Amino acid sequence: MNQPYEQSELYKLRHSAAHLMAQAITELYPGAKLAIGPPIDNGFYYDIDFVEPFKEEELVKVEQRMRELAKLNQPIERKVVANKEEARKLILTDCTHGQGEETALYKLELLEAIPGDEEVSFYDQKATDKQGKEHRFIDLCRGPHIESTGPIKHFKLMHIAGAYWRGDVKNKQLTRIYGTAFESKEELELYLHNLEEAKKRDHRVLGRELGLFMFSPRVGPGLALWLPKGAMIRDVLSDFLKQEQSRRGYQGVVTPNIASQRLYEKSGHILTYRDKMFPFMEDEEKETFILKPMNCPFHIEIYSSAMRSYRDLPVRLAEFGTVYRYEQSGELAGMLRVRGFTQDDAHLFVRPDQLLEEFKGVVDLMMVVLKKLGLNEYRVRVGTKDPSSDKYVGHEENWRLAETSIKQACDELGLEYEVSPGDAAFYGPKLDLIIKDALGREWQMGTVQVDYNLPERFDLEYTGEDSKPHRPIMIHRAPFGSLERMIGLLTEQYAGAFPFWLSPVQIAVLPIADRHVAYASAIASRLQGYPYKFVAEEEQTPFEPVEGVESAYRVHVDASRQTLGKKIRENQRQKIPYMLVVGDQDCANGTVGVRSREDGDLGAMKLDEFLGSLAGK
Ligand SMILES: [Zn+2]
Ligand SMILES: [Zn+2]
Repeated sequence: MNQPYEQSELYKLRHSAAHLMAQAITELYPGAKLAIGPPIDNGFYYDIDFVEPFKEEELVKVEQRMRELAKLNQPIERKVVANKEEARKLILTDCTHGQGEETALYKLELLEAIPGDEEVSFYDQKATDKQGKEHRFIDLCRGPHIESTGPIKHFKLMHIAGAYWRGDVKNKQLTRIYGTAFESKEELELYLHNLEEAKKRDHRVLGRELGLFMFSPRVGPGLALWLPKGAMIRDVLSDFLKQEQSRRGYQGVVTPNIASQRLYEKSGHILTYRDKMFPFMEDEEKETFILKPMNCPFHIEIYSSAMRSYRDLPVRLAEFGTVYRYEQSGELAGMLRVRGFTQDDAHLFVRPDQLLEEFKGVVDLMMVVLKKLGLNEYRVRVGTKDPSSDKYVGHEENWRLAETSIKQACDELGLEYEVSPGDAAFYGPKLDLIIKDALGREWQMGTVQVDYNLPERFDLEYTGEDSKPHRPIMIHRAPFGSLERMIGLLTEQYAGAFPFWLSPVQIAVLPIADRHVAYASAIASRLQGYPYKFVAEEEQTPFEPVEGVESAYRVHVDASRQTLGKKIRENQRQKIPYMLVVGDQDCANGTVGVRSREDGDLGAMKLDEFLGSLAGK
């Protein structure tokens, strides 16, 4: 088992690096007031109140001083003081090097916030350099730290940002300096390399460049506009999943984007989900409407619109349903966190004896989806009850059935999973898929959730074999999570070079001169599988659809009046999988000059030969 990050040596190293940075800063910038400096996921930071504004260019200087101080290999000692009074004295003297109470402002506030029964500790590091000058830094800190500053070798200061003291906008804005540190040079280099890669793959940038999606301030924050190529990817993904689902007995439904407040009162969302809902709308008859934050209550209405017998179950209702959630504007992040998005949602209404099989079916579908998308690295997390909490609804035996079914489903599918107690929703346990992308970053994507609460609230029933009413169990599931998030992830995973089946434009045909445009168009028609002969400029096309050969590729003819070199570069930039260059020779011989995104220039081949090479892609 991996040890938690918070208990690792790396975590201590980063914490000590934060202190080392603060030490360098107090030496270089007298009067700078230190606030807090913890380790974080990918490094560390320190919040500092500078006398003069601090500029990012100055990071080099701080880094240099840190290296000098690290080399002194200052021992880091933990000191526990007897009480807060003693701590106060230490802060005003040694911590601030006697610069006065003003410099100690934040530290004194932090000291005040420490509960009375808690131990108050300091970390003290000092050494004398070759010139005989003493360096010392002591900071109020809970720790833990490494034993001396020597091992802080592989670090880098990254950037600065503004941060309010205690995260409160009413307080003063401080300068937050971010840095990172690793235990080896290789790890640091890999991290920095991946950061560069991540920048190149940023889906917000690629989304614009490739014509996939965009945001506009006039439309509003977190509301994406899908451009033609992005809309095409959505269609391809949706079609793929719809096909898989209909094969598995799902039925499609369509529901509106707003609904009466009464629906969400019944579902309980008004109570539990209010802060994620857009402001309510009231009409002239004083009826209140809500912009849809969830599809579930709609599907429940559909379920309960008919008498259901045990033989009708499971009922699997699926919808690509667009929902709206009021995320804080500061938390919006490209396609990864938006205010309006489309879930590949479905709700399964099942009998208790079907729970295992249905859960298995859902997880199996998720695996099929991941494989198709080329997302082969993932982990599975099963969220169960926190045994010490009483926030959960539903009978103990139901929970037991659900938790065992989820685990058994994973076991039977040969899936490894980790159990995360306390991660269940208050209404049932769940399974999460956490995907690792090409750069090793983790993304929480699809979820399967068992629900005993909504069937109860809506009084859902089916007639059992015993002719008595029984309560179905609900499963919520979304293998993609949302189309927005999934396409955002896929854009970064593939750096915009989508696999052939998913590429919005799969083949570009590039006529060398105007006289080749008719031939290029004929080729395009053939690739698109038009059921008729294409005639352009009175010329008879040499290609006719072949009986029984199906091709419906997404093709673009680049008839722009650019030089061939320019056209090739532009289509390369668009990351189109195949370019077919056509000139005089090709027109005469019925060939195309094939350039593959992956394999480069493949030379001239007969169109049918090229078509044959696409089989199975
Ligand atoms: Zn500390
Ligand atoms: Zn749901």
